[in-house]
Formats: sequence, structure tokens, C-alpha cells
Amino acid sequence: MADNTHASCGGADDDRDDAAAPGAAKSPVDQERIRRAVREILSAIGEDPDREGLLETPARVARMYAELFSGLHEDPRVHLKKVFTEKYDEVVLVKDISFNSMCEHHMLPFLGKAHIGYIPGGKVLGLSKLARVVDVVSRRPQVQERMTETIADLMVEELAPKGVAVVVEASHSCMTIRGIRKPGSICVTSAMRGIFRSHLSSRSEIMTLIYGKN
Ligand SMILES: [Zn+2]
Repeated sequence: MADNTHASCGGADDDRDDAAAPGAAKSPVDQERIRRAVREILSAIGEDPDREGLLETPARVARMYAELFSGLHEDPRVHLKKVFTEKYDEVVLVKDISFNSMCEHHMLPFLGKAHIGYIPGGKVLGLSKLARVVDVVSRRPQVQERMTETIADLMVEELAPKGVAVVVEASHSCMTIRGIRKPGSICVTSAMRGIFRSHLSSRSEIMTLIYGKN
């Protein structure tokens, strides 16, 4: 039973991957401190941190947190600096950008998709850069509302577009596995800027493009 559990979460693979991960040693995350804290938590819940199955757990969690919170030490703006001058002034929409983040209230993951649309104001962005921004912003202790607004405001500040629409939908494990325990519930947040905020017809258009309804 214990062996199966270990195999199913890929503990052994973790060790290999992380050992080879480039830049792991440069992480500003204090992994030794996390290891001590996780050992303490294991003791506090009544476990024996010296039990064989748990011996490597503090180190594994420390490496995992360094990865999950890596966005805290990165500036998402660097991905918004490479812009092209284009006359195109219709909607650009990138849908279904998958992300995983950590709810800052419970330190549990929330997972979902971000949709980012904008109408350029002369500057157009490489499409993959939107996914990079989502990655950096999501790899921090987060709340979904702030994450949504942060992405929209970064777009406004760096691209000066005519409008930005950011819609994020996610399933929060702090709602599905604990507390009110509602598996399948999805939280949707949106941040509208510029024309998407001021014009109902533009807002309707972008929501139709995202959700594909007429
Ligand atoms: Zn939570």
C-alpha cells in the first residue's frame, strides 16, 4: 500500500528530475528552512518524520516549493517587452492557457485556464509571451482575483492596448477537498480594461469569442 502510494505520486522520479534541474542551486528559496519546517509539520500531525517513507519528504517538498513559487523571484514584465509595431487593431485572443497556482490562504493548489484578449494600440506581442506571463504570475502564493487583475494591468502598462480582457477559470482544491467540499465547482474571474470595460458590445464580443456562444 505504502509502496503504491509512493509510486503513484512519482516520488522517485521527482528526485531524478530535480537533481538535474538547471538553476535549482541558484534558487533564492531557502530550502533548508523548508525542510526543517516540513519535518516540524510531520511531527505536529503525529507522524514520525524518521519513518522510512517520510525520510526524503522534507527535501522533496522543499524542491517542490522552490519550483511552485519560482514566479516570486521573476519579473513578468520581461516577457512583455518584445513587441512588434502592427496596424492590426482587431481582437487578439489566446484561449485555454493552462496554469497551476497556489492559494495563499491554504497553500493548496488551484488549477485552471486563463484566456487573454486584447485590441492592440499599435503594439503587438508574440503570442507565446502571454503564456509566459501567466506562468510567472501563477507561480506565487496567489488569490485568483488578484492574479486576474495583475495580468490585465501588466498588459495595460506595457502594451498600452485599446482594451484588455482577462478571464480566468479554476478549480480550487481548498474548496474541493476540504471545507465545503464541492468537487467540480469552478471559480471564474474577469478583469476588463479599456474598451472592454467601457463598451458592452466589445465585452460581449470577447466573451463570445472565449466561450464560443452566439
Ligand atoms: Zn484556499
